[in-house]
Amino acid sequence: MSQDIVLDETIEVRRPIEAVFAYISDFARIEEWDPAVQRATRLNDMPPGTGSEYRVDMKAGFSLHYRVVEFSQHQRMAMTVDSRWFTANEEILFEATAIGTRVRYIARFRFPGPIDAGLRLFPALTERLASNTMNGMRRALEERFAAPAASAAVALGDRLLLPGMLRFTRMGYHLARRSWKPVSAWLGGRRVIITGATSGIGLAAARALALMGASLVLVGRDSDKTTAVVEQVRQRTGNADVQAEIADLSRVSDVHALADRLLADGRHVDVLINNAGALFNPRQVTGEGLEQSFALLLLAPFLLTERLRPLLAAAAASSSSSAPASARVINVLSGGMYTQRIQVDDLQSERGSYSGAVAYARAKRGLMILTEEWARAWRDQGIVVNAMHPGWADTPGVASALPDFRRLTRSLLRTPDEGADTIVWLAAAAEAGDVSGAFWLDRERHPAHVIPGTQETAADREALVDALRRWLV
Ligand code: NAD
Repeated sequence: MSQDIVLDETIEVRRPIEAVFAYISDFARIEEWDPAVQRATRLNDMPPGTGSEYRVDMKAGFSLHYRVVEFSQHQRMAMTVDSRWFTANEEILFEATAIGTRVRYIARFRFPGPIDAGLRLFPALTERLASNTMNGMRRALEERFAAPAASAAVALGDRLLLPGMLRFTRMGYHLARRSWKPVSAWLGGRRVIITGATSGIGLAAARALALMGASLVLVGRDSDKTTAVVEQVRQRTGNADVQAEIADLSRVSDVHALADRLLADGRHVDVLINNAGALFNPRQVTGEGLEQSFALLLLAPFLLTERLRPLLAAAAASSSSSAPASARVINVLSGGMYTQRIQVDDLQSERGSYSGAVAYARAKRGLMILTEEWARAWRDQGIVVNAMHPGWADTPGVASALPDFRRLTRSLLRTPDEGADTIVWLAAAAEAGDVSGAFWLDRERHPAHVIPGTQETAADREALVDALRRWLV
């Protein structure tokens, strides 16, 4: 019986041990740092730990099944690996050093006889694979990537409409992700507020950010549901620092009460994610007499963001150079906004026949304008404001508001995790803090307008902000 083939490599990186351990020990992210890996998938819904299992698809065309058999926080993890071609035991050891963290990766492979004999003839091959893995790990943990620049080809695709719309599907997501850079940010100590976090895209973003160690505030409308979601996120991510805040964001009084509580609490806000949304058909009016799409999709994010600005500015002022720079506001928009121009003199869709889709798209258009206005006004305070489109994702919101659309396009829809990816990237990636006032889909910049007639004037922008300010006091 042949002996194991053993690879044993060590690197030292300039990152704190909690960041390195959290990133490397979650093998769902191995595709970001191991160049031989195509895709990694978490197989059980639990925090990374003993018993975690992952399917890892290799670029060479076969899959590995990883099972974590030992897990000591910030010290060591051990895994068994099974595949068609070999079995292995792998061990990763973590040690804090004067400059950061030392990571030692030991893998013991067992190949069937003929393959084993062949590999022993070429020891340089296996050593090369191991050093590529460790170089990938070092790059993911240490390299500061440049923010993606606006691309003329992407903008052209959007203006041709059909290629732009194909990007909204899961195909667009898979196409874009080929050029993504690793995001190894650790968000420990960073406070993130997410509205609409009990379902769909907001819930997916909450889980991903919890796994990155963020201190989370999940804003939901229903107390029982939000409390249950908080508990679920805590259990599935192992992050206990997740709190609930209850507010019906279509009510101005609730938005102000929420802002009052957060301001009274006084803790800084590093990231505010304005995600809550819905599409209303037929026209509905809130108990306060406001049209629902306007109240929820435009007025609520305006009021919440304006009122939390001091807490965002405080976070930006306290950002250390090791943490992702700047405070961030992320507005979740929709490609639907491409079809509409803002109607400042009819913000509540009172004129003509009402269409929920049009009211929704105009409100999202309004939030795009605010994104650009805030980005300009708050640059000096270190607050970065961006907007994103999640693409078309199969969420409870789509199932209830657009059942026919969902039936026709179901095989093209993304998962909520795929829809939430750009939110997570905008919240966490260091390079995402370098751009403000942009509209993103799949970590790529897209134009804010693609068809003639949707561009507002400077007077429209001013009138919009003036109109919304009436509810600020
Ligand atoms: P969803 O219905 O699954 O989630 C929406 C969330 O918003 C829920 O948590 C809901 O409780 C919350 N919400 C709704 N009304 C609220 C209120 N009055 N007060 C407080 N919270 C409220 O939908 P989703 O698809 O995950 O949508 C999330 C965001 O993504 C929305 O802004 C939506 O416009 C946007 N979006 C989604 C898609 C898509 O394909 N799913 C496409 C484009 C844009």
